[in-house]
Amino acid sequence: MEITFLEAAFGVKKEVTYARAERCDVCKGTGSDKGSGRKLCPTCGGSGQVRRNSGFFSIASTCPSCGGEGEIIEKPCSECRGAGTVRRSRTITITIPAGIEDGKRLSLASQGDAGANGAQDGDLYVFLRVQPHESFERDGKDVYCAIPISMTQAALGADIVVPTLDQKTVRVSIPPGTQNGRVLRLKGEGIPELHSSTRRGDMYLKIVVRIPTRLNAKARELLKELASSNGEESNPRPIPLSELKQ
Ligand SMILES: [Zn+2]
Ligand SMILES: [Zn+2]
Repeated sequence: MEITFLEAAFGVKKEVTYARAERCDVCKGTGSDKGSGRKLCPTCGGSGQVRRNSGFFSIASTCPSCGGEGEIIEKPCSECRGAGTVRRSRTITITIPAGIEDGKRLSLASQGDAGANGAQDGDLYVFLRVQPHESFERDGKDVYCAIPISMTQAALGADIVVPTLDQKTVRVSIPPGTQNGRVLRLKGEGIPELHSSTRRGDMYLKIVVRIPTRLNAKARELLKELASSNGEESNPRPIPLSELKQ
């Protein structure tokens, strides 16, 4: 089953339709027609095994007629042809817990095929695929996104409003002198922890400083003025690479 990024983050109820073997209502799962029962298997005489001679040896194997049970159905149920089960399509609602990750498997007890001869019903396994999100990426319970700011916001600092995972917004203070690529952390704005109602991961904002690509005359003048008042360096020296890794 495929679910969206946010459905995986916050949990969702989903309908799932699948075919499974269900107990036959007509024979109540016995496989026998009404009023008839089981009789000794004529092939193996009730032993459940057949013997085959091969030279000096006699090899025993499971009886193909009764499958080793020693009995067969006298008159098979017309509904299920003696199987005791019939294949039916069914729809159930499943609860996908908040915080589930891509590729995980949900196991639903007794929602699989009906057990033969009174055995327990099998389980249903649902494999989950989580669609990627346009703006958010997760690593466990932490979430990453990229937020663009202008070069003046980066230089002067600014209060910006960014969207959170739960469709709300949060005010973030960009400190003056913020460099491109700086990462800010929003505590508790990540993915809810699986099977916990309170704990959540964090959200990391990677700041992307946008340099203007088109300047009008006014902006060009202002920037030139700024450049000359700064006395800009025309022969910069390389930055120690260790500085970039901070
Ligand atoms: Zn039946
Ligand atoms: Zn048999």
